[in-house]
Amino acid sequence: MPVLDELATRLGPALVTDPGALQPYRTDRSGWTTADEPLALVRARSIEDVQAALRFATAHRVPVVPRGAGTGLAGGSVGTAGSLVLDVSGMDRVLEIDVEDEVAVVQAGVVTDDLARELAPHGLWWPPDPASRAISTVGGNVATNAGGLLCAKYGVTRESVLGLAVVLADGRLVRLGRRTVKGVTGYDLTALLIGSEGTLGVVVEATLKLRRIDTTPAVTVAGTFASVEDAAAAAAAITASGLRPAALELMDAASCAAIDALYAARGETTPLAGRGAFLLVRTDGAAAEAEAARAVALLTEVGGAAERSTDEATGERLLALRRSAHPAFMRLGEVLIEDVAVPRSALPAMFRAIERISVEHGLPIPTVAHAGDGNLHPNVVIPPTLPHAPGEIPDAVWSAADAIFTAAMALGGTLTGEHGVGVLKRRWIERELGEDVLELSRRVKAAFDPLGILNPGKAL
Ligand SMILES: Cc1cc2nc3c(=O)[nH]c(=O)nc-3n(C[C@H](O)[C@H](O)[C@H](O)COP(=O)(O)OP(=O)(O)OC[C@H]3O[C@@H](n4cnc5c(N)ncnc54)[C@H](O)[C@@H]3O)c2cc1C
Repeated sequence: MPVLDELATRLGPALVTDPGALQPYRTDRSGWTTADEPLALVRARSIEDVQAALRFATAHRVPVVPRGAGTGLAGGSVGTAGSLVLDVSGMDRVLEIDVEDEVAVVQAGVVTDDLARELAPHGLWWPPDPASRAISTVGGNVATNAGGLLCAKYGVTRESVLGLAVVLADGRLVRLGRRTVKGVTGYDLTALLIGSEGTLGVVVEATLKLRRIDTTPAVTVAGTFASVEDAAAAAAAITASGLRPAALELMDAASCAAIDALYAARGETTPLAGRGAFLLVRTDGAAAEAEAARAVALLTEVGGAAERSTDEATGERLLALRRSAHPAFMRLGEVLIEDVAVPRSALPAMFRAIERISVEHGLPIPTVAHAGDGNLHPNVVIPPTLPHAPGEIPDAVWSAADAIFTAAMALGGTLTGEHGVGVLKRRWIERELGEDVLELSRRVKAAFDPLGILNPGKAL
């Protein structure tokens, strides 16, 4: 396409137009695939590459889709019609680790686990801990304000980012935030960018707030229950008691069965076999032992059985079970992975609602939850008998998802705890935000992106 010639001259092989190479960029890990054709792909290697792409996009009014590793579950990084997909995963260097100030500066494309590996020898870690940490990028974590297993105690991504370098829609580079512990000069645009799903600017660098690794052995409690409601009541009792475990993860009976089957296929056994529900509690820090003892007491009070272990390998094995939920569900067929959050006290009611919706809609909905922060992942399994085009989500499945969103909002909850709105949840956001807040959000977007070229059709 002639319009791309000037960009090709500037970017050389970093600009890719071959339709075959663009194919993977028409989907993400949600499984949803667009029927649209992106215009081209930029594999950025530097801030200058990102600036060149955005200057070109502004000059020619071309939509730009920022993309990290494409592990998102809401279609946010999917290359839409005529768009320039801007892949920053090649910008993957850790630029600085400052042990004294507990700060790291990284490029946006650094994989979350690679960062952990670089920090560990310095006795430091970065808390955001999505289950996708082995494959997602820090820039993607920032753009989605990712959560994870440890965020009930250590907070979501926003709590661990001090500053950002961002390329604006017109190609200007701005540095937002700070590297000090405190700082309130101006509006907190760093916080605004975090979770903006690529609609306000392209994150190219991040200044991260780190923590020291605590060498006190963590304690893991494995709780088993006859029903998911009992397990949810136990989780709610733990948080209501003021305990803040590092992880509090719940798996219902169908999830236990799916994960156990995944391990069985590899010839391994798990403690999940035949369970009505499983609750994993991990306590850490100086009070780990005392908190674990309190958690065991609370679990048994609601009729659960609990086993405590300080063996790190046992703890890691249990966490790995929870992290393998996604591959376990994929073996059941195609799934729509949902992501509602409710006040922690409403967890039992939300699990009841999901069970009811599953029966009413005739669809299996195995559900896992980051119970420590009230964030549930109901996985609506798409039966192979339900007619739908590849990469499309059938209406019957959306109808079950709609019932889940309605139930979560009725309980004072939200449509998405951590995966973001992307494309897939746009039609519900007005119901949660209301007309005035949506309008205000659109005006904020227009201030950053007056031509509307940054990830249009996503998030808002
Ligand atoms: C198995 C599995 C488990 C998961 N577990 C979790 C979990 O526990 N918690 C959780 O929060 N999420 C989870 N996710 C979802 C996903 O991994 C996260 O949202 C992750 O943060 C996305 O990172 P990414 O690099 O893949 O971003 P992408 O998928 O490439 O992009 C996601 C969004 O961010 C935007 N974006 C990406 N990079 C930039 C950038 N540099 N500048 C501006 N915008 C950008 C994109 O436009 C898009 O809107 C999981 C996904 C999978 C497949």
